[in-house]
Amino acid sequence: MMNTRTTQDWQAADAAHYLHPFTDFKALANKGSRVITKADNIYLWDSEGHKILDAMSGLWCVNVGYGQQELIDAATKQLKTLPFYNSFFQTATPPAIELAELLAQVTPPQFKHVFFAGSGSEANDTIVRMVRRYWDLQGQPQRSVIVSRINAYHGSTMAGASLGGMSGMHEQGGLPIPGIVHIEQPFWFESDRKLSRDEFGLKAARALEAKILELGADKVAAFIGEPIQGAGGVIVPPATYWPEIQRICDQYGILLIADEVITGFGRTGHWFGCETLGFKPDLMTFAKGVSSGYIPLGGVMVGERVARTLIDKGGEFAHGYTYSGHPVACAVAVANIKLIQRERLVERVREELGPYLAKKFAELGEHPLIGEAQTCGLMGALQIVKNKATLETFDSKLEVGMMCRAHCFGNGLIMRAVGDRMIIAPPLVMTLAQIDEMVALIRKCLDLTTAELKQRGML
Ligand SMILES: *Cc1c(COP(=O)(O)O)cnc(C)c1O
Repeated sequence: MMNTRTTQDWQAADAAHYLHPFTDFKALANKGSRVITKADNIYLWDSEGHKILDAMSGLWCVNVGYGQQELIDAATKQLKTLPFYNSFFQTATPPAIELAELLAQVTPPQFKHVFFAGSGSEANDTIVRMVRRYWDLQGQPQRSVIVSRINAYHGSTMAGASLGGMSGMHEQGGLPIPGIVHIEQPFWFESDRKLSRDEFGLKAARALEAKILELGADKVAAFIGEPIQGAGGVIVPPATYWPEIQRICDQYGILLIADEVITGFGRTGHWFGCETLGFKPDLMTFAKGVSSGYIPLGGVMVGERVARTLIDKGGEFAHGYTYSGHPVACAVAVANIKLIQRERLVERVREELGPYLAKKFAELGEHPLIGEAQTCGLMGALQIVKNKATLETFDSKLEVGMMCRAHCFGNGLIMRAVGDRMIIAPPLVMTLAQIDEMVALIRKCLDLTTAELKQRGML
């Protein structure tokens, strides 16, 4: 029996054979990975029987929480009826058609069409090809440059990682690929903070205009951004940022792409982050929350501006994946979206959970170790600082965020550290009492981090 193996057994086999993503292989093999064996609602259990509150929804994806019977039943039923068929040969399957129809209903009105992929990264690869194809068909093939942002995360394939703005990723594998450039991110805390947040938001957005003028407007195909940067550290942009980005894209005729992989499906209190942040994208990337991570699925919502050109004058679009529109994945996604609708999870985040989390995070923001607390819907960030009055940060080499994360892991809480920014994106099915439980654990871990910093003479 596989599950009678001991933790040590699992760790030895893991170290011998399994190369983990975004991991220092040797360091992990020496340490041994934590083996997660089961989950229910917002909790995980490891192979030692420890219960852990998952404040990251897995990897930003398990929006409806673990153990939802309807999703499990949808997968089981589809596996029995038709576990796979493709959409290449002028064919389709009922779950893929049903999901396409449902997505057209829950996304903003400009979206009537979807292109399916297997993940967020694949979907962003699709986007690169699709926007370039669009401009070819418009008779402007020289419009090929896509503008993204420093510290953006758009996945880990060649195009996804190139669109992303993480220097550590660009250093490995000869990235970015040609025709992708990056401007500054709207990260007020990291700026010199001489401007107000709103002024800074305008300035950061106008970096797009400067880049367009530098490249020549006739060379620029599109701008892509996460409505709220996720992996970059839950960076909620100033309210002025996205409307100004919209104005600039409109003025120069540039396609606007929202990467909604994290912010989609209720996370911010609307179905999509662009609705919360106030802009109207031409294309949207989705993944993660579409299936609540129960099974891999991603895709691109294609707005009418692009769809009409591709459909009316495009001929064959020479692109697709074996698993585009996978029937089991689509069946799970349909069940997931129906569950979100029936349980009114989007409204609950907007009206009840989001405001409650905002209040609790504002209280955590009073903690001596915290220089900035931000939330939007059920995403949140706590910026650790050395000096609360001056907002001076710790030397990044000290890895204080990782120290805090270790206290979280040791105390039954999964919270992620991005540098010294502690972030959460918990399941949307939480109760208010569970938010209290999570916040109490966070506070305890901030106190433990403070104590360790003092004990080691770092504070
Ligand atoms: C996770 C993520 C991706 C990549 O999705 P994968 O399914 O891991 O390929 C793309 N964009 C954003 C904003 C993400 O958070």
